[in-house]
Amino acid sequence: MFGGLGLYLVFALPALILGLWAQWKTQRAFRQNAEIRTARGLTGAQVARSVLDGNGLTEVRVERVDGFLSDHYDPRGRVLRLSPDVYDGQSLSAAGVAAHEAGHALQHAQGYGFLALRSAMVPTVQIGSWIGPVIFMVGLFMAGTFGTTLAWLGVALFAAVAIFALVTLPVEFDATRRAKQQLVSSSIIVGNEMRGVNAVLDAAAMTYVAAAVQAISTLLYYVFLLMGRSEE
Ligand SMILES: [Zn+2]
Repeated sequence: MFGGLGLYLVFALPALILGLWAQWKTQRAFRQNAEIRTARGLTGAQVARSVLDGNGLTEVRVERVDGFLSDHYDPRGRVLRLSPDVYDGQSLSAAGVAAHEAGHALQHAQGYGFLALRSAMVPTVQIGSWIGPVIFMVGLFMAGTFGTTLAWLGVALFAAVAIFALVTLPVEFDATRRAKQQLVSSSIIVGNEMRGVNAVLDAAAMTYVAAAVQAISTLLYYVFLLMGRSEE
């Protein structure tokens, strides 16, 4: 019989390892290219400002936020928040990440569909990501049809998390595509500097692929656990 641990080893563990590997690769690429100063020498804050202003988004603010790789665009406040390494950095890493976050602001301004969908899903996903697994586990340990129904409800809630992770992929890949395009067209990044920028942004994109794989494999893990139970 294919037990719970066997299922975990097949579904959840490889995805978890993939996620950790992608994170490690991103941090390494970021740190390596944070040592390389761009020829133009703009800080991440200046890069973001330049991309935003160049696209008529003068009202979007650029702020410094604490943390490492904590950079993000806040569509509600229309604020781009950059971590200290990026905000003040004059490196390939700083330019790449700053332009990527500015890419999200461009998506927002242009009404990019997947970004709107992703934002609309946030409340459901915030609830689903923690209540889903809890309801699932409670249902799994309860006897009878009620327990099974409850567990399937947990699976459905967690399915929203997996769909969210999938919707995130086009959003992130598009932001990176825009970033690369903006950096080259505005000559913020010149010559072979793009190689380092690509290394950082492509590694970061991999973490979102890993997160999607993780969410889907966790969902499958739940489904198979539950199906195994119903047969008993
Ligand atoms: Zn992003």
